[in-house]
Amino acid sequence: MKRVLVFEAHGDDMEFFAGGTIAKFCALGHEVTLVVATDNDKGSFELSAEELRAVRDKEINGAAAVLGIGRVIPLGYSDGDLAFQAAADRLRGQFMRIIREVKPDIVFTWDPFTPYEGHADHRAVAVAASEAASFSHFPLYYPEQLAEGLQPHYVSETWFFAKSPRDQNKFVDIDGYIEKKIEALYQHEAQMVLTIADMQHHLRASGLDVPWLAQLDPHDYQEAIARRMKQGARAVAQRAGLQCEYAEGFRRTRYGGIESLARDQQIAEDV
Ligand SMILES: [Zn+2]
Repeated sequence: MKRVLVFEAHGDDMEFFAGGTIAKFCALGHEVTLVVATDNDKGSFELSAEELRAVRDKEINGAAAVLGIGRVIPLGYSDGDLAFQAAADRLRGQFMRIIREVKPDIVFTWDPFTPYEGHADHRAVAVAASEAASFSHFPLYYPEQLAEGLQPHYVSETWFFAKSPRDQNKFVDIDGYIEKKIEALYQHEAQMVLTIADMQHHLRASGLDVPWLAQLDPHDYQEAIARRMKQGARAVAQRAGLQCEYAEGFRRTRYGGIESLARDQQIAEDV
């Protein structure tokens, strides 16, 4: 059994990029903990920030239950303002404390090295989480945590969400888990309504004609979300030359690249 720790900026980040893989880890008996940095409290054209915060727990816990995640840790920063509310060293220390408490073998998070990432919260989580995972076994980082009784902890693998096929070096067959990924996304109702409504803003401004999108009530998001998720996962499987129908792709680093020193040996795969 491995322990897996996910750091995401917003409830729904992990579901979009790794929902099938996380469902698979859970189904295989691994223990998954989810850290959600913000409240999603700017993510709507129709709800107030207070209303969004009120539905946050229901949505993230609902999605976690669908995927089989055992524990959710919401940090409660304001959507879009993470980097302003938490200085980089403070957020890194907060993440390192969680790593030293949860003791994960594998960390999932945003990629600090991906270009063109437009969301400041994704960038902030990416830097803080990847540095925390890289250095949590160094005892001189945040020594006050050790003085409180926590121990240094070594993270074996980091799996980065990978928007671009160029970055993907690890693929997971999610046949049998794509429906759980989609069902978990449906639990994030406010964010799914937002996703469709935002696409409609782009469509209207562009002057382009996509009748099914223009006519869609954003609250009837289910079929559009399912179709896009299946198209995307099918494309990943095809590009990777896998036999399965659906896959997710990641940029993974593990054991500091030590495998290159043992060319005749291989590390077993968990999923
Ligand atoms: Zn996000």
